[in-house]
Amino acid sequence: MRRTKIVCTVGPAIDDPKKLRLMVEAGADVFRLNFSHGSPEEHSARAERIRLVEKATGKPLGILADLPGPKIRISNFGDGSVSLNVGDPFTLTTVPVKGDRRRVSVNYPLLAHEVRPGQHLLLADGIVELRIDAVAPPDIHCTVVLGGTLSNQKGLSVPRGGLSLSAFTEQDRVLFRHGLDMGVSMAALSFVRSSRDVMAARAFLAEQAASMPLMAKIEKPEAITELDDILKHVDSLMVARGDLGVEIPFSEVPLIQKDIIRKAVTWAKPVVTATQMLRSMVESPRPTRAEATDVANAVLDGSDAVMLSEESAIGAYPVEAVRALAAIAENAEKRLFENRTFMDMPSGNPSDLSTAIGHAACVLAQDADAAAIVCCTRTGYTARLVARHRPRTPVIAISPKLETVRRMTLVWGVKPVLANEFHTLDGMIKNALGAARDAGVLPGGRIVITGGSPSAGPGFTDFLRVAVVP
Ligand code: PGA
Ligand code: MN
Repeated sequence: MRRTKIVCTVGPAIDDPKKLRLMVEAGADVFRLNFSHGSPEEHSARAERIRLVEKATGKPLGILADLPGPKIRISNFGDGSVSLNVGDPFTLTTVPVKGDRRRVSVNYPLLAHEVRPGQHLLLADGIVELRIDAVAPPDIHCTVVLGGTLSNQKGLSVPRGGLSLSAFTEQDRVLFRHGLDMGVSMAALSFVRSSRDVMAARAFLAEQAASMPLMAKIEKPEAITELDDILKHVDSLMVARGDLGVEIPFSEVPLIQKDIIRKAVTWAKPVVTATQMLRSMVESPRPTRAEATDVANAVLDGSDAVMLSEESAIGAYPVEAVRALAAIAENAEKRLFENRTFMDMPSGNPSDLSTAIGHAACVLAQDADAAAIVCCTRTGYTARLVARHRPRTPVIAISPKLETVRRMTLVWGVKPVLANEFHTLDGMIKNALGAARDAGVLPGGRIVITGGSPSAGPGFTDFLRVAVVP
């Protein structure tokens, strides 16, 4: 049984409902709608197809709306692309022009006021590098330092630029509203720099009388500095290695990935490792050995989930890519369980009673040689507090809330199951075991049961029991 969850970015490669179903059968748990590309109508049609496959397979599926955030982009070239050579002069301008070999427009009107001569700019994830020679708003005059081909709508980043734009943009609000209409399960915020960005999105949700988990994509150096504070305000993290590796030296990404994951697990917040995990599978049916090793290491670092981007959105082998992720992850997990039954992770919040019970559930499961840990959970909190210790004992999470079931598709090792509403503690336990049995996931033997009793209110874990299932 694989514990690491698989997030797949949706795109034309899996728009065919049969392909989509194969993705789920191969192991996809969460689908990411990348709002940086495609129209709201396309995403809405995709969300509908995902819900149809969920119904047909009976497997709960998460839908993650990924909001673009303040990504600065160049506009278009007359010929679609240009090729730039080292030493060429090249101008960026904030007024609209048709791009050519000498200049192109950028979509951020304040850029010329927020950069200085001597700074470097990276385009297309660092394929092209420019050095700024002079700034004369609306123009930024540069020299090409690293040459290459630049095509329409490529991203632009100012490493350690400290630009003033907020990470939760006007465009994000509009797209988020569409996401809410589509019934997505969670949303990701791009280029987050501090908890303020998360709170801005949270305030927007409150205005809409909506609530859903928010994921902070860690892809800015400022976010790494502010990580502890961001973690207190956000529900999950993504190690967004694509942009991160442009914003900071790529040589630093491997260790920062480990730090981000360790912190997220400490706070029981799910963490996704993303980007280029199986990049070669866009064109090839088999991953490179380096990619297989990268996926395994992301699992050993403690990721809740690993993600496919182009591999599943536009690649030639999306189903094979999911199978490859699943196989590599499952094999790597063996090492997590060698010589220990759970990880005994330190907690950011050790005095919290729910945290203590989550830990005790793992100890009890180990000492009682339990066959499963069943978490009765309204919000998913209990399940996250158990899962963060990465127990070898299978974790089944039962919730009367469909949104919670769908959110738990992201959490390491948790098998989410929908049940009827709980009223009394005994009723809840009976209900939970019945739902797990009906779903075909309840093993025989001793079952550790934990959760918040109906009187405890949502978000509190207050009981621990053992049942024996014949
Ligand atoms: P993106 O985010 O694919 O939306 O850019 C992930 C990353 O930057 O790695
Ligand atoms: Mn990114």
